[in-house]
Amino acid sequence: MSPAEYLEFVRETAIYPRQYAVIYPSLGLVGEVGELANKVKKVIRDNHGDVRRFRNDLKAELGDCLWYYFALMDDLGKALPAEWADEWVRALPGGDNLIDKIIMVSHWASLLAYEPSDPDAADICIMDMEYVAYHLNTTLGDIADLNAAKLRSRQERGVLQGSGDNR
Ligand SMILES: [Mg+2]
Repeated sequence: MSPAEYLEFVRETAIYPRQYAVIYPSLGLVGEVGELANKVKKVIRDNHGDVRRFRNDLKAELGDCLWYYFALMDDLGKALPAEWADEWVRALPGGDNLIDKIIMVSHWASLLAYEPSDPDAADICIMDMEYVAYHLNTTLGDIADLNAAKLRSRQERGVLQGSGDNR
């Protein structure tokens, strides 16, 4: 799906109380980047940092980050960066490594949570998310599709609200 279609999907699945607009997705974004970082940490501890077998888990966490990013931007009334309006911007080959990029997403997500009106944090945050996707051998477009499939399945099974990675 396109970024605009994914935004529609996020709106359909955003079920948090409106009085917590902005703060809820801010905390969600910071939390999900933390889940992503924690999964990579465990790969370092248990699997010598070789993420290949764990790519699907990491992609799912990146999808959670993307969902909250879109929800936050929507709550802020911010359009996506112009270059993201119609299609997903692709990372250029190269650019740090997976761990550096996850830490950068964490930095921008925290900055956004603290200062949502920061003019650059939002744009750089999503570009660094695309770089995380790139280092997982995928794209944010595919991450959005995966995330939508996961949440639609939860919606159909009536478990959209609740906790646990593998609902
Ligand atoms: Mg998660």
